[in-house]
Order: sequence, then structure tokens, then C-alpha cells
Amino acid sequence: MIKLQTKLRKVAVIGTGFVGTSYAYALMNQSLVNELVLIDLNEAKADGEARDLNHGMPFVEPVRIKAGGYQECEDADLVVITAGANQKPGETRLDLAAKNASIFKGVVEQVMSHRFNGIFLIATNPVDILTHVTRKISGLPKHRVIGSGTSLDTARFQYLLSEHLAIDPRDIHAYIIGEHGDSSLPVWSQARIGGVPLQTYLNMEDIDNNQDMIAIYEGARDAAYDIIQRKGATYYGIALGLVRLTKALFQNENAIIPVSAHLEGEYGLHDICIGVPAVLNEQGVREVLTLELSPSEQQKLQHSAEIIREMTRTAMTAVR
Ligand code: NAD
Repeated sequence: MIKLQTKLRKVAVIGTGFVGTSYAYALMNQSLVNELVLIDLNEAKADGEARDLNHGMPFVEPVRIKAGGYQECEDADLVVITAGANQKPGETRLDLAAKNASIFKGVVEQVMSHRFNGIFLIATNPVDILTHVTRKISGLPKHRVIGSGTSLDTARFQYLLSEHLAIDPRDIHAYIIGEHGDSSLPVWSQARIGGVPLQTYLNMEDIDNNQDMIAIYEGARDAAYDIIQRKGATYYGIALGLVRLTKALFQNENAIIPVSAHLEGEYGLHDICIGVPAVLNEQGVREVLTLELSPSEQQKLQHSAEIIREMTRTAMTAVR
């Protein structure tokens, strides 16, 4: 008898709030996985979401969706964590880092107690810090703990550039790196449009100080604040970003996407999770790509790393 070599894929999503359920909904539309398990402290919410998603089943390719407990992580290929609190008015990012790190301690320990042996994908904020916390608590090798990092910031940046230039965003190779947050930086020196340096394409002397370009970067950096002010949360963009990352991993794409990866000397940084472009395949992070940064970009990256380090220290103290 012929043996089919089909690989079955299972994803567990922990946290079925706006981000977790938007990811689940986007994922079930892509025929990428065979099984999707929803886990939340609020079991009724996870169950309700699973029921609702299942009613769309006749309209998509088959996928098994259910609510479940942490034992479901034992044979999962990917655990996506979107659980945790959002920043409240008056709360600092340091407070949020400590609060969500405590939540993560419980979550990651429970996942690991079921001998999870796959890849973690983290979206909860502050994402660089929680990616680091997950790596330390899980003890998994660095290539198997990935944060969404600046994938969304970069997508926003590419979208805004595409609107400004009237060029398909997929043909714009321009990254935001560093913290997923206020200290991120645009890598103008390496930005390219179909292989042409952006600075050349725009015939600009000093792209870093061009008012239009500054406004585009700031639009990407501050997008979450603008959206939260209007609708309370952001979730569709990050959900599609998480699906894109899932696809790169499951289809062994060797795709280059900026994520929060654990650095061991790249960019002169050690033992830190920070947003940088990385090659992703079914092993996780195959390698970190080292962009040739200008001196001022390198300085900004160092500054961003210092901010992440301070928050990481606070978070690690909270989980000891
Ligand atoms: P939400 O409040 O809608 O959902 C959070 C969910 O986590 C809730 O369902 C809650 O019950 C669950 N939860 C809380 N503690 C838990 C625990 N101990 N175990 C299991 N589940 C638990 O929030 P949201 O809008 O979905 O946002 C989730 C996170 O994603 C936030 O930290 C937000 O800042 C972040 N986010 C990240 C990005 C990014 O680019 N990385 C973008 C948007 C949002």
C-alpha cells in the first residue's frame, strides 16, 4: 500500500482575546493546519470561540478546532501565546512587563510540564521581553522561541511607504528593527525598492532627515496608539502577521521576516531578544540576518537594546 507522507500540523493558541481569536480565524482560512486548540484562563470564552469558528467549517478546508487544556500542547508543533493584559491608562511599560511576565511563568511552565517539544511564537507585549522570559523558563533552544518582534511595525512601514510611492508593499524591502515599541528604528540605509536603494529611487541627499520619510516612520511606530484611541485594540494586522510566520515555519519557506530573535553576538548584542530580520523555516530561526547599519542606526539599535534590557531585568525579577 502507498504510504502518504503528509505531515499533520497542530497549533495551540493560548489567550483567546482579540489577538488570539483573530489569529485563529485567519489561520482557519489558510489550509495550513490540521488541528487548532484554543486555551484560555476563561474556559467558557475559549469554548464559545471554538464553537463559533466551527460553524464556518463547511465553508473552508477541513481543520479540527476545539477548546482545551494544557495537555493539548504535548503533541503541538506550535504554541502561540497571545495571553495577558494590555497596558492600562497610567500603567508604565515596566509595570506591564512585570505583570505579563508573571502570567507567562504560569503559562510556559504548564506548557512545558506536558513535554512540549515544538516552537513557541509570542505576541503578548512587551513582546521582546516576554520572548526572553519564555526562552529562559522553557529552556528550549534559542531557534525555537520566536517573538513577533517588529514584523508588524515593518508591515505598517511597508504599507505606508507603498501608499506614498504607489508601489506594491511586497516589493518594498525596508525594515523596522529593535524594540517592538517606541525605541524601534527604521533602517533607511538598507531600504530598497525592487533592488534600487530607496534614497537613490527618491533622489534624496539625506533620507534620514527627510520630513516625509520621518512622518512615514512615525506613522508606523505610533500606529497602535492611533488605532487604540479609535477602537480600543489592534488585532487584524498582528493576526495576519502571526499567520504569515506560521506559514513560513510550517512550509519550511526559509523566508526572511523581522522577528524578535535571541541574539548571541549579532549586531554586537548578547543574550537579548530584539527585532531583527531572520531566516525562518521548520526548525524556527535558521539564522539572524546582519544588516549593514549606518553608525547612527547602530547607535539607535544599542539604545533600543538598553531599553529592552532594563525591562527584561524587571521581568526576570518578577518570575524568580
Ligand atoms: P485581550 O484582553 O482581548 O485577550 C487576552 C486574553 O488572555 C484574554 O482572553 C484572557 O482571558 C487571557 N488570559 C489572561 N491571563 C491568562 C492566563 N494566565 N492564561 C491563559 N489566558 C490568559 O487582549 P488582546 O487584545 O488579545 O491582546 C493580547 C496581547 O497581544 C496584549 O499583550 C497586546 O498588547 C498584544 N499585542 C501584540 C501585538 C504585537 O505586535 N506583538 C499587536 C497587538 C496586540
